[in-house]
Amino acid sequence: MKMNRRSFLKAGLGGAVLLGAAGTACHYLNMIDVKGRILIVGGGAAGCSFAARLMRRISNPDITLIDPADRQYYQPGFTFIASGVFEADQVWKPMNKCLPDGIKWIKDSVVALDPVKQQVRTAGGETVEYDFLVLTPGLQLNWNMVEGISQDTLGVGNAHCIYDFVGAQRTWPAIQELVKKGGRGVYTDTWTKHKCGGAPKKICMLTEDLARREGRREAVQLDYYCSEKALYDVPLYTPRLLQIYEERGIGLEVNHRVTGIDTAARKVYLEKHEKQLVKETDEAGVEQEVEKDVVTPLVEDYDFLSFVPPQSAPDFVKQSGLSWTEGKLARDGWVMVDQETLIHKTFPNVVSLGDVAGIPTSKTSAAIRKQLPIAVENLLCVMQGKEPTEKYNGYACCPIVTDYGHVLLCEFDYNKDADITFPFSLLDMSKEQRAAWWLKKYFLKPMFFHGMLTGYM
Ligand SMILES: Cc1cc2nc3c(=O)[nH]c(=O)nc-3n(C[C@H](O)[C@H](O)[C@H](O)COP(=O)(O)OP(=O)(O)OC[C@H]3O[C@@H](n4cnc5c(N)ncnc54)[C@H](O)[C@@H]3O)c2cc1C
Repeated sequence: MKMNRRSFLKAGLGGAVLLGAAGTACHYLNMIDVKGRILIVGGGAAGCSFAARLMRRISNPDITLIDPADRQYYQPGFTFIASGVFEADQVWKPMNKCLPDGIKWIKDSVVALDPVKQQVRTAGGETVEYDFLVLTPGLQLNWNMVEGISQDTLGVGNAHCIYDFVGAQRTWPAIQELVKKGGRGVYTDTWTKHKCGGAPKKICMLTEDLARREGRREAVQLDYYCSEKALYDVPLYTPRLLQIYEERGIGLEVNHRVTGIDTAARKVYLEKHEKQLVKETDEAGVEQEVEKDVVTPLVEDYDFLSFVPPQSAPDFVKQSGLSWTEGKLARDGWVMVDQETLIHKTFPNVVSLGDVAGIPTSKTSAAIRKQLPIAVENLLCVMQGKEPTEKYNGYACCPIVTDYGHVLLCEFDYNKDADITFPFSLLDMSKEQRAAWWLKKYFLKPMFFHGMLTGYM
């Protein structure tokens, strides 16, 4: 039988899912009988997969999941909607088709959480008690922290954001128009921890590639304003990424934060944050040099703008007393879990993973896939009165799409050391690869819906 590329890829995926499932099936045969009311708050990539996995591990589970959403989105697909690779309807499924049978789903939002009383309150006024809590509500996009635009007005004044499902859909025609008419495309990210740090960079490189393919590169100026002091900070991959930006003539500025947008005038307001040595005279009249955060405001004109709102833990998490109280992860309220066990540091009956977890790694669903088995097994340990045994090494993966056909597949751990998974360890992964594009375009979405959310992978 002759196979075309698509059927070859499908067969490959089927094989991978079967292998993955077979690998974990042995584990699942080993059902355990633990008692306790488990409450999962948030049924997205992390919460839904957690529920599915637990259902295969506990013989008589008592699981309640609270989530108000009608839909389960494959959010990594938003970048591909915004670049014309996926149609919008390819990236979501109804929530009731994703959540596993046998759990109780309360379709509501949690508005308050009291870890001492072991209860949550919902927007609908219900109080739900738990013995064990799985905290997976993802993160909050703080649109109000960029003046002049809101989630509802995305696209007005050609200011776009791919972190929103509708926003991603509005971005694609705008990019096509930029390429057709020519002009200046300004791309920005944000200074808080945010999901998939690669996404804003990808949409910039995809625009550049589209312009080249359409013979319009000369008509388009592209500039990327990065909030951090470097475009990327994983040593194996950063040099190639910087080289791509340089080779392809994309302007790059670091330490720039967006504060507001004038959509009528098509101007974006930024602040340049720099550490500078400044001379100061102390009370005794002695002059000395001190390091200061110097902030310089600036305004840039754009014809097309891609921006990202600052992000934090949801408000009810910040107010719950479960967040970090000191260190870098405290300001935005990320949950204070042990970075290896994913168990809360002061409330051992709480486990947290996914975007809301306060751990120093990238917020991606690829990271969640590795956190899942660890968090599930450690919760089971706690439920049995044992010490958590499993350890997460911070593995995260960010497939940075560099053009329509290549991906720089960045896999790394807490130490920012490359942690390359087979079969990619056979290739030079410090450079973009076509095989990684195939993985991203054809495999990862079905793997998400059929492998990860079902608890098999
Ligand atoms: C543009 C973009 C590109 C991305 N690209 C990639 C990529 O290439 N690779 C990759 O691995 N990852 C990527 N990601 C990141 C990935 O999608 C997230 O890391 C992942 O979805 C996080 O899963 P989560 O379960 O923590 O949160 P989510 O999947 O966001 O789920 C959170 C759930 O909690 C629910 N919820 C929220 N508040 C409450 C509440 N108060 N009460 C009850 N429920 C609540 C929500 O309704 C939602 O269902 C990308 C994300 C975006 C936006």
